[in-house]
Order: sequence, then structure tokens, then C-alpha cells
Amino acid sequence: MTIGVAILGSTGSIGTSTLNVLARQRDRFRVVALTAYGSGALLERQAATFGAEYHCLVDGAGSSCLVEAATLPDVGIVVNAVVGAAGLEATLAALEAGKRVALANKETLVMAGDLVLRAAADGGGEIVPIDSEHSAALQCITGHDAEVERLILTASGGPFRDWDADRVPAATVKEALNHPTWQMGRKITVDSATLANKALEVIEAHYLFGLEYDAIDVVVHPQSIVHAFVEFVDGSVLAQVGFPSMELPILYALTHPERVTDVALRRFDPVAAGPLTFEPLRRDVFPTFDLGVRAGRAGGTAPAVFNAANEVAVRAFLDGTIPFGRIPDVIAAALDRHDPQPATDVATLVAADQWAREQAEAACC
Ligand code: MG
Repeated sequence: MTIGVAILGSTGSIGTSTLNVLARQRDRFRVVALTAYGSGALLERQAATFGAEYHCLVDGAGSSCLVEAATLPDVGIVVNAVVGAAGLEATLAALEAGKRVALANKETLVMAGDLVLRAAADGGGEIVPIDSEHSAALQCITGHDAEVERLILTASGGPFRDWDADRVPAATVKEALNHPTWQMGRKITVDSATLANKALEVIEAHYLFGLEYDAIDVVVHPQSIVHAFVEFVDGSVLAQVGFPSMELPILYALTHPERVTDVALRRFDPVAAGPLTFEPLRRDVFPTFDLGVRAGRAGGTAPAVFNAANEVAVRAFLDGTIPFGRIPDVIAAALDRHDPQPATDVATLVAADQWAREQAEAACC
């Protein structure tokens, strides 16, 4: 018996990596559904190659096709690699239908962590992270959830890790897009440069592992070999290590808690990995990080406001409207005016998201 997989966002980098993994695991999984924004020709080719029964281009069909793909009876696992808030509804629907959701869409948990946990509890679905740091944490924690004392997420530090503090605010788009260890989309690469990405990951970890914010730390680790550390109540620390690759976390999200053979994945070599170094995060130089964690601690609609304001600020930076150093100011302008409300339903979150976009636009553009 093979497990049916739906991939939302199949033509992006996580989507294509997932298909690479599934091509090697055809005896365990079959591709049932594919959705994409644009790249229609590639989507058609993918559907033909993998024999997917269902595929749809969101451009033409509207976002209802995401929910449809995610809830097909033959689908056991939904890989959600949709960029931005558009992935939320499909995640909730899949969890309510009892599916496993392998989540590469950060916004889902950041915006709506409470709703996601409730949908999973109601429908019997489960959420498994694809992000490398959270996959690492899950691999360390599995079987010992109750004994976790502290999680330490690693951060590459981004391209400005060792820059003089006074040079960072004037960094150019080209400099921000020059990520040292990971090849990713433009938005997430800028998020790595501001460390917004790491703040989003702290919020994700809070929901995924049920940890208080005081129990989640971040350390800068430029080599991106150690993906996370987990400290247990007895003081023992486990880490998950490996060369940077998204295919391993994707494979683990599909097979968790089991492990399966994959001969194509690069084997680890400690000598080739070279010296591993760790440094504190420079919170004063990268204030976006603390803004994000502050929003996480405030809870309710605040993380959605942080996420939306950050999206607007990053787009303005990429468009050349604001300098790099203004990104945290634009986010702070929205957060300072926000009075967080309980995140009771999707409509409340969408309204907060919309409000934050307007505040951020007013502050920046
Ligand atoms: Mg990550």
C-alpha cells in the first residue's frame, strides 16, 4: 500500500525537491495531487511524469483548488509549500480531514498557530515540519517530548553576520540576496538577512513543540551544519547535524517517526564539514528578530501583524522604496499601534493581516 501525497506549490523549490524525493520513494508514496501558482507548463509536465490524478493552477481556478487537493480521499499527506498566507485554509482543511500536513509554509503556524492546533486536535490530523531547524528539533525530541527543557535553533546569521553595525542599515538588495549557505526565494532570503526568518521560526517552534518562549533560544552558527540542539531535563543535549539540504527534512516529514533508505542523499563527513563555530545573535544590529519574538509572546493576532508588516516592508525594500535599515521601523510602526485580539477564527486573522498591511504601507510607501 502506497500513501497518497498532495503537493501544494509543486513548481517552487520545496515542491520540486519533494518530487525529487518522491521519485526515489515510489514504493512507499504516490503523487495524487499537485497545485501551483503560474508555471502551468511545468505543472502539466510534473502531473504527467508522476501520474497525478488531480492538478490545478491556482491562477485559473482560485484558491479553492488548494483545499480540494488537500482533502482528496486518496491523500494521506499534504506537503504545503505555498508561499504566504494563501496556504492557511488548505492546512486547516487537511488537518480537520485527519491528514498529515508536512509544512514548509511558515505563515500558517505564525499567523494561526492556535487555529492549526485546534484543527489538528478536532480532526485527528498531524503537523510535521519541513523547515530544517524544526525537522532537526522533531528528530531529537521524538519519544522524549515530556523531558524537553530547552530548544536551541541555529541561525546562519545571514550575509551581514559579521558586518560593522553601522554598515548594515545601508545594505543593498544585491547584498541582502547573497545568502551564504542556503539557496532560497527572494522574500525568505531577505528574511534571513534581517533575522525575521529566525523570529518566525521561534514562533513556529512555540506552536509545534508546545514550548514557552523562554525555553527557545537561538545561536548563530555560520556553517549551517548543526540544525538544532535540544536540551533535556537531565542536562543532556542532542543535536541533529548534516550538510544543508532540504531533501532530508522533506523525506523525514513524509516518513516520521520512521527512517527509510535514500541513497541519493549526501552522506555526512565531519572532516569535510570543517570547524563548527557558534556566536551570540546580535539583537541590537538585527532588531527585526526581537520585534518578531515580542509579537510571538503577545500572541493572538500579533504574530499575524508582524508577518504581514514584514511582508510589506520586505517588498518595499526589494522594490527600492526603503533602505534595509527601515524594515524594522515599518514593522514596529504596525506592531506599536496594534492591540492584539484572541485568534478565534480565520476572519479575525485575515482582518489583522489586512490592517497590518495598511499600517505598514502608510509607514513605508
Ligand atoms: Mg529554516
